[in-house]
Amino acid sequence: MRLVVDLDLCQGHAVCQDEAPGLFNVPKSGQVEIVRADPGDDLEAARTAVRYCPTQALSLVDDSPAD
Ligand code: SF4
Repeated sequence: MRLVVDLDLCQGHAVCQDEAPGLFNVPKSGQVEIVRADPGDDLEAARTAVRYCPTQALSLVDDSPAD
């Protein structure tokens, strides 16, 4: 899984950083930076961040190769 942000939607609320501080960094009055796109062991926290982002700017993309 890979985290993707739509910066047209992100308004810097930092809910994502609160939910998963290892994955997101939100500068004061700025937009989110994805620190680690592959959530790995933090997948549940990543899902929570995606769910609670107030502007639905975040998504999780399954980019594992089809077998
Ligand atoms: S919670 Fe959503 S709007 Fe807020 S900083 Fe994170 S991605 Fe941006």
